[in-house]
Amino acid sequence: MRYASSRGLADEIDFSDALLGGLATDGGLYLPTNWPSLPLAEPDSYPELAAAVMQPFVDGVIDASDFAVMVADAYATFSAPDVCPLVQLDENHHLLELFHGPTLAFKDVALQLVGRLFEHELRRRDDRVTIVGATSGDTGSAAMEAMRGSERVDIVILFPAGRTSEVQRRQMTTLTDPNVHAVAVDGTFDDCQDLVKAMFADEPFRQRCRLSAVNSINWARVMGQIVYYVWAAQKLGRRNTPTTYCVPTGNFGNVFAGHVAHRMGLPVDRFIVASNTNDILTRLIDSGEMVADGVVPTLSPSMDIQISSNLERLLVELLDGNGPATAELLAGFRERGRAALTPQQHERLVAEFAGARLDDAETLAVMSGIYERHGLLIDPHTAVGIGAAERLCRPDEMIVTLSTAHPAKFPDAVEQATGVRHELPAHLAGIFEREERVESLPNNLAVIEDYVDAARR
Ligand SMILES: *Cc1c(COP(=O)(O)O)cnc(C)c1O
Repeated sequence: MRYASSRGLADEIDFSDALLGGLATDGGLYLPTNWPSLPLAEPDSYPELAAAVMQPFVDGVIDASDFAVMVADAYATFSAPDVCPLVQLDENHHLLELFHGPTLAFKDVALQLVGRLFEHELRRRDDRVTIVGATSGDTGSAAMEAMRGSERVDIVILFPAGRTSEVQRRQMTTLTDPNVHAVAVDGTFDDCQDLVKAMFADEPFRQRCRLSAVNSINWARVMGQIVYYVWAAQKLGRRNTPTTYCVPTGNFGNVFAGHVAHRMGLPVDRFIVASNTNDILTRLIDSGEMVADGVVPTLSPSMDIQISSNLERLLVELLDGNGPATAELLAGFRERGRAALTPQQHERLVAEFAGARLDDAETLAVMSGIYERHGLLIDPHTAVGIGAAERLCRPDEMIVTLSTAHPAKFPDAVEQATGVRHELPAHLAGIFEREERVESLPNNLAVIEDYVDAARR
């Protein structure tokens, strides 16, 4: 399998280089050059299905039996026997619970596998890397958890001091492995992200530290998320009948993985893109125009995103694979804060995607309503999804809403909506007693680079 850049100006590469390299040299995102077909078999075990669905993407680089072992190890860290259990809400509405991994958000589904893929490829190439990343909460802890204990990876995660929840911070700062480092930056999430971009742009530093990234533009993360769409259809006996999937969306990585499953042959009625007040995608779907607006903090912080980086992977398809035209559209958007699809492109977008947005008050109302009707506590991200599905559902439409975080990860919002405070699961219950290990640094590139240079082994 070969991978090509969405902007069409970088050389094609194999899976190994796409995994370790992150962004393409022309600034684009890697995509496979063809879509393989889904396997016909419907194994009872999630890891078996996962290995079969994903094997074509690593073909030529990773041996099928090695890959199956990595996949099985990755999902052995999940606490649910089904890995991603399907829970019935109403006759035509199910929740697909993606939060049973070690850090309680759906990021674990892909990152537990990505950690093992890094280890395997770095061993084969006798190489090592330093991963740097910025997080507003969930990605940092999932990436650190996935990489902890690795001999060949050092990982440094920047987070905005005082702006994550206490659970999120402690998940990062109470790890004791010598290769993981949490840095509290005196600044915002955007400052952290700018520092990471600046480190990648500093070519000598990038080479010296062998910088690598596991943010949501890494193809391997999309790959790891394709599987559960197929799993949900199989669990419902709908591998040959179209289903609608409703996805709480931020960077568009999760819902794009669903679109890939569709391209690989999964019958899909449509995707519902669920947004909070940061609704640029809803407006794009409604109007065919992408118009930037400021980011507003909400109860569902992992969706507080202005520019969804993975949208580029869909845009290039809507533009008939024209990489340079995609680059131009995005450059225009960055410059002027707006960009428009043609009527034909917009038509193709709405043939597959619908969008709805919920504000915080509506999100809380969904959380309390679900608790009253079903006795179920749900997190605010999942609530945005359920609310969007309920608003748009047609008679007889079968909807699966993706449940992206454990309610214990957002205890304040859950308590505000229901009056109930969810306890942390046993394996995390100790994080409030454990000592925190965190470096507090100013928003200064030279200081951060010195720290990274000294921290890596
Ligand atoms: C990351 C995240 C999302 C958004 O997913 P994208 O792939 O960025 O669209 C939604 N909910 C939770 C809980 C998350 O952590």
